Amino acid sequence: MDSIANVIVLAESGRFPLCFCWWQQILRYHNRINDLSDDERLIKCAFVEGMHNPAYLFWSHKVHTWLQGQAVGLGIEDELDVGTVIGSAKNHYAQTWHQNSLNIVARYQPLQPEYVLAPYLSAVKGFKSRKLISRFRCGCHGLHVDTGRLLPLAQQVPREQRHCVFCASGSTEDEHHFVFDFPAYCEYRNKFTNIFWGLAPTLSSFYTLHDPKVIARFLREYFEHRNTLVAAQTGHSP
Ligand SMILES: [Zn+2]
Repeated sequence: MDSIANVIVLAESGRFPLCFCWWQQILRYHNRINDLSDDERLIKCAFVEGMHNPAYLFWSHKVHTWLQGQAVGLGIEDELDVGTVIGSAKNHYAQTWHQNSLNIVARYQPLQPEYVLAPYLSAVKGFKSRKLISRFRCGCHGLHVDTGRLLPLAQQVPREQRHCVFCASGSTEDEHHFVFDFPAYCEYRNKFTNIFWGLAPTLSSFYTLHDPKVIARFLREYFEHRNTLVAAQTGHSP
């Protein structure tokens, strides 16, 4: 149903996949057919036959299967309250989206415990700052764990082996190393002591305990410094 990027971007904004709009239209159509008073009409006969005979793979049977998967608790022969059904299906999606088996979702989920618009998206007014935080939270930031997955398949190494090339720690250059561990950023961490004072060294604490505008300023300065390190290595201006 969704690519992995879509799953995370939708969760970040508290929105739902487009297929819920399609299901809404299908359920309305289902009600219209179900309400037909003339049981002899061909379309009504096919609808009823398909409902009771799964071997036909008729659309009405697929609707029944979908309703069962959404924990809606309604049968195909019931008059469907479309708003209630779609609302229940969205709740079901919000409660289970993080059960996606891909690791990137498992890493992201602690940052977004509730399936709602992430607070920084309304608190931070500047587009560039919102974009910076979004990209960092969603793993599209240019650190080595990100750029490493974009290499041709033959050149890719496992995530934990995408080491930081700016220090000798041998650590993976991921978001946690970038924010909490990287020695070259000590000067900046000292500047933002209010962020780190008493903070559990987890990214979820980092995002939830502080003003998003401060987080944006912090990330901007960190990335500017990283760009100078990249420039020093490559000989290109940042
Ligand atoms: Zn490092």
